[in-house]
Amino acid sequence: MNYISLDLEWNQAYAQKALAVQKRLECRLRGEVIQIGAVKLDEDLNLIGSYRITVKPKFFKVIQRYVMRLTGIDQTMLDHGTPLPEAIERFHRWCGEDFAFLTWGPDDIPMLEDNLRAHRLDGSWLHRVYDLQLIFNRQTDGSKNQRSLEYAMEHFGIEQNLPAHDALNDAYFTALVAQRLDVAAGIAQYDERRGDNLLTTVIGDADGGEKGFSTPELLLADERVATPTCPLCSAPLTPLDNLLHSKGQRYTRLFSCKEHGKLFLRMHLLRNFNETWRAKYVILPADEAGEKDYRKRLQDSAVATTRRRRPRRKPRQAQEASTQGSDAATPSPQ
Ligand SMILES: [Zn+2]
Repeated sequence: MNYISLDLEWNQAYAQKALAVQKRLECRLRGEVIQIGAVKLDEDLNLIGSYRITVKPKFFKVIQRYVMRLTGIDQTMLDHGTPLPEAIERFHRWCGEDFAFLTWGPDDIPMLEDNLRAHRLDGSWLHRVYDLQLIFNRQTDGSKNQRSLEYAMEHFGIEQNLPAHDALNDAYFTALVAQRLDVAAGIAQYDERRGDNLLTTVIGDADGGEKGFSTPELLLADERVATPTCPLCSAPLTPLDNLLHSKGQRYTRLFSCKEHGKLFLRMHLLRNFNETWRAKYVILPADEAGEKDYRKRLQDSAVATTRRRRPRRKPRQAQEASTQGSDAATPSPQ
């Protein structure tokens, strides 16, 4: 198997225009890819090829000034670029048969998927992706911070001898960082974690043509969330504690299946292009450490809520206007 280190540059439109385009296309499009850069590595991480193509945008045709400053791509280059369907066909052919993508950070592949969807093109071949940023963190200091590519280069003493924010240069630098990591071990760990999940799905994905939920509350009341069944035996699961709400619209709840033991349901709520909500939704076996952490966080959030409630004194008018439900920080138990 080869590795493809991938980097993209994309152009954006001003908010009104972007919204109108997304409504018309009925899918999310936060940016339009204008350059694809990639470096191919063999199994031993030797560099064996490179690829760069400038893409002519179809929806956001005018290059934003800051994108031009950052990437050095100007309007003339864009106008002479290759339309996405053709660029992607060529790029896919260059990738070959058996490969996995390496990216720096989580953003590039979803952006490319959105672009393919906007053009009604198949994106299923993009599924094998490893975020090198995570592997770097795990194999260096275990940090959870998002480190820049420049940070990783400095860490390994890689000289920045080419301009950054050129898709090919960034893909090349990403490849150099990969060569200094144990990529195979990182991938094995990645796959192991992925393999733990008994169920991985998205609900309410308006970007993918489903109906989104107009509020997070409606999503949380959906039967797949409120009364889920075991992915292994389809038996109804019994909740063992409350729904835990963490930062950034993340939710966790511990359940049990008579036959398969304790299971976590974990969700991340996200906005669809049309302002409705979807959730990435995972069910996986609960281990002891995970359960301990979950119970502790539940307790902490209960304490935080009590503390917040006590000293708050609102002006009289405001108090009258908000007699119901303003303090909904913690979801109530069933
Ligand atoms: Zn079961």
